[in-house]
Amino acid sequence: MAETSTDIPGIVVTGASGRMGQMLIRTILDNPSARLVGAVERSGHQWVGQDIGAAMGGAEVGVTVTDDALEAFSRAQAVIDFTGPEATLAFADLAAQARAVHVIGTTGMSDEQIAKLEPASRHCAQVRAGNMSLGVNLLVQLTKKVAAALDEDFDIEVIEAHHHHKVDAPSGTALMLGEAAAEGRGVSLSEVSDSGRDGITGARKRGDIGFSAIRGGDIVGEHDVLFAGQGERIVLRHLATDRAIFARGAVKAALWGLGKEPGQYDMVDVLGL
Ligand code: NAP
Repeated sequence: MAETSTDIPGIVVTGASGRMGQMLIRTILDNPSARLVGAVERSGHQWVGQDIGAAMGGAEVGVTVTDDALEAFSRAQAVIDFTGPEATLAFADLAAQARAVHVIGTTGMSDEQIAKLEPASRHCAQVRAGNMSLGVNLLVQLTKKVAAALDEDFDIEVIEAHHHHKVDAPSGTALMLGEAAAEGRGVSLSEVSDSGRDGITGARKRGDIGFSAIRGGDIVGEHDVLFAGQGERIVLRHLATDRAIFARGAVKAALWGLGKEPGQYDMVDVLGL
């Protein structure tokens, strides 16, 4: 039987006017396996009521930007959400009510906020990752392996660079890499994390995992994991030059989540790494 448009999974994008929101909308419109069925912005946003294609400066696509997230979610099989921590917490409850897969790319969430996502995941599949790209998720696995192979004679530093609009530091990706390094070493990141060095900090503590953040211009995202020993250094590096890698990963996660049991998943599950 021929496939009809309603057989193709419908996806809603929240934060539709954002950098990632717009990239996600283009990615979904270009993907024959997915259908854009909603674009959500906050109440009062100037795009609400406009066709999303026209609001983005292109042709109309037949999807009107709305501030009624629950109504949009209830027409969708999946929601892709790259917004902010408070918005994501609210969207998690609505995605649970709509039984839609909730793909969460939002970073900068506190441990307390992350814990608050769990009740919603009892009703729908939640896929959350600080970085949705294949390359970074592979880098996470490599970091874990290298950290496991080396002892504390090698100091571990995670160095990241992002555009000047970014509001959180260290980046979600840097934290994923730090967690991977800590796991490889068999320690808890919260006990060895060293970020925001300034002033007379004293010598570096053996075993610490350090973080440094660079902010400037239009840098999409760069991450180095440095293992610095005596007389040698190993550097694992990922350079993102196009936000499309995150959007493609998020759409892949949304399609992967369809039909999955309610629960919390990450990109390692999606990519089978
Ligand atoms: P951005 O350009 O500031 O976009 C965020 C969007 O979310 C804005 O349009 C914002 O609207 C909207 N928003 C905030 N609260 C909302 C609400 N209550 N209802 C509806 N929309 C709301 O930021 P970005 O660069 O796209 O990044 C967004 C998030 O994704 C950040 O946390 C970033 O770190 C993360 N990110 C993750 C990955 C990954 O792979 N996981 C990759 C890139 C970025 P207003 O402008 O009205 O506030």
